[in-house]
Amino acid sequence: MSALPRAAAAPATVAGPALHVDSTAIAANVRRAAAVSGAAVMAVVKADGFGAGAEAAARAALAAGATWIGTATLDEAVALRRAGIAAPLLCWLLPVDAAWEAALRLRIDVAIASVAHLQAVAEAAGRCGARARVHLHVDTGMARDGAPDRSALITAAADAERLGLVEVVGVMGHLARADEPADASNAAGVVAFRSAVAAVEAAGLRPAVRHLAATEAALRLPDAAFDLVRIGAGLVGIGPGLRPALTLTAPVVLTRVVPAGTPVGYGHTARTERDTVLALLPLGYADGLPRRIEPEAGVQLDGRRCRVLGRVSMDQTVVDAGPEGVRLGTTAVVFGTGAGGEPTAADWARWAGTIEHDVVTGIGARVARVLDGVR
Ligand SMILES: *Cc1c(COP(=O)(O)O)cnc(C)c1O
Repeated sequence: MSALPRAAAAPATVAGPALHVDSTAIAANVRRAAAVSGAAVMAVVKADGFGAGAEAAARAALAAGATWIGTATLDEAVALRRAGIAAPLLCWLLPVDAAWEAALRLRIDVAIASVAHLQAVAEAAGRCGARARVHLHVDTGMARDGAPDRSALITAAADAERLGLVEVVGVMGHLARADEPADASNAAGVVAFRSAVAAVEAAGLRPAVRHLAATEAALRLPDAAFDLVRIGAGLVGIGPGLRPALTLTAPVVLTRVVPAGTPVGYGHTARTERDTVLALLPLGYADGLPRRIEPEAGVQLDGRRCRVLGRVSMDQTVVDAGPEGVRLGTTAVVFGTGAGGEPTAADWARWAGTIEHDVVTGIGARVARVLDGVR
C-alpha cells in the first residue's frame, strides 16, 4: 500500500505575518538585467535570497534565463545543490579551512582571494583526486574581499592549474560605488579589472567568465558588464527600473479604543494625540522590523496609512488605526510594491536610516514565506 498522497501545493493559509514573494517579478528583473547589460546573469541568492527564500529565488531566476547561481558562503551553496539546483554555482566568502571537499564533490565553484586559500583548495583537490573550479577574486578598488596580492595569487593559480589541481574558470571583481555611476572610482575599477584579466591571461590562464558588475553596475555601467553580471538585490526589485517582488503583511491581532493622551508601549515614548483605536501587529524587531524609526513610519490598513505608535517591541508593534478603527483580523501591509499606496521597503529603509537591502534581509525566520500565493 502506498502512503497517503500529500497535497503538493495547498493554498496559502497563513494566519500570521507573511512575506509574499512574486516570482514573476523576480523573473522580470532577471530579464531586465540581461537585456540592459547584454551579459549572462548570475542570480545571487545569499542571505536566503534577499529574504525571498534562496531556493525559490534561484529557481525563478533560472527559469527566466539566469545561467549561474551565486552565494556568499559555501553552506549556502551546499544547501542549494542538495535542494537539486544543478546550475553552475559560485560562492565567494570562505574561511581558509573551509569544507573544500564538499565544494569539490558538489561541483561548487569557489572564489579565491589569497595564496593561502589557493593552497588549501589545491591540497583538498589532491586528496580527492578532483580538480577545483576557482574564480580569482581581484581587488578592483574596494579593499574588502578581493586579493590583497594579485600577482602572487595569479602565479600560485597558474602553478596549481599546471599541476591539474585547479581549473581557473573565472576572474571576478566588485565595485564600491556603482550606485554613483559618474564616480571616478567606477572607471578606475573597470581599468583595474581589465588589467587583472590581462595579467591572468599573461600567466597562461584562460578564464571563461569575467565578472565585475553587481546589480547597480549591471544596470548603470555598460563598460562593467563583461561576460556575466551578478544580480542579488535586483532579483527582489532593488535597483533602478526593477519590479519589487516582496510584500510583508501582518494581521491585526488585537484592537483597543483609547482616549487622547494614552501612553503606548515600552518607555511610554509616544502618546495618542486624539481619541483613537490602537491596533496590534504580531511583528517586531526580532522579525526584522527596524526598532529605530522616524515617527512618520507606518503601515497600510484598509487602504489608509496608519502610523506606528511607540516603540517597536521584539515581537509586536502598535499602530494608530484612527478613530474609525479597524476590524480584528484585518491584514496590514507593512511594505509592498507601493502600487496600492502602501509603504515600500525603500520607505522603511528611509525611516530607519538604512538601505532596502538591510530591510529585506532582516525579515526573520518566523515570518512565513508565501511564494506566488502558496505557502
Ligand atoms: C552581494 C554581492 C553581489 C550582489 O550584489 P547586489 O548589489 O545585491 O546585486 C555581487 N557580488 C558580490 C561579491 C557580493 O558580495
